[in-house]
Amino acid sequence: MLGVAVGLTLLTTLGNVVGSVLTVLGVRTDARGQARLRVLLGFAGGFILAGALVEVFPHSIEEAPLWGPLLAVGGYLLLFSLERLFAARAHASTPVSPHEHTLPHELEHPHSPLTPVAGVVALAGFLLHDFVDGLGIGAGFAEGEGLGVFLLLAVLLHEVPAGAAVASLMLGSGRGRLAALAAGTAIGLVTVAAVPIPFLLGEIAPEVPAALLGLAAGSFLYIAAHSLIPVAVRERGLGGLVPVVIGVALGMATALLLPNGGGHTHTH
Ligand SMILES: [Zn+2]
Ligand SMILES: [Zn+2]
Repeated sequence: MLGVAVGLTLLTTLGNVVGSVLTVLGVRTDARGQARLRVLLGFAGGFILAGALVEVFPHSIEEAPLWGPLLAVGGYLLLFSLERLFAARAHASTPVSPHEHTLPHELEHPHSPLTPVAGVVALAGFLLHDFVDGLGIGAGFAEGEGLGVFLLLAVLLHEVPAGAAVASLMLGSGRGRLAALAAGTAIGLVTVAAVPIPFLLGEIAPEVPAALLGLAAGSFLYIAAHSLIPVAVRERGLGGLVPVVIGVALGMATALLLPNGGGHTHTH
């Protein structure tokens, strides 16, 4: 199962690399393309939100009632703190404004060059985020293949944009194209490197994978509610709502249909 998990996770690495290549090649989308991207990100946000709430978090609190919730809150706060640090360092001269310097904002409106420090903080944030993605995928497969596939899908859905984002932040903070490609590849490899950890720790303490699912749920909640869905909401009218609702519905349906989903029947 570990081999399968690592092999499938290489798909998310590929997603990151593709995303960063698109950025480095300077694939600029027109207004319609940007609108489609917002719809896709909203769909991914809905799917991930539903997955975190309906599948990943319930599984975690059922089997790790103390550490699951603690790590969920911890994962959320960790990503939030890193984004605050990014916001505070984004520009040398502008005063800090929490609403103007979030990552989604910087990506949609690359208005002025980012400071080199902000580039480093952003890369650290993406590395941490993608490491947690890998812990989640590993923990999911350690708990059962249905859950593993579900986490893999949730990660795959947002990793092309993540690769594009980290590459664009590297370019924006004054690094070259090679550094941008390296950053996209690095966040992909760190995901793969994290996958075996829940398997290994689970040998020592069986509740560790379920606890790490809590961490993944906290991270998913953050990126869905804070990074993905707000982008879709900028689409006017129903265009901002419908993809999110469809994403939620499909996320819930997938959670219920996959083996060991929904009913939480376990083989261990
Ligand atoms: Zn800014
Ligand atoms: Zn991710």
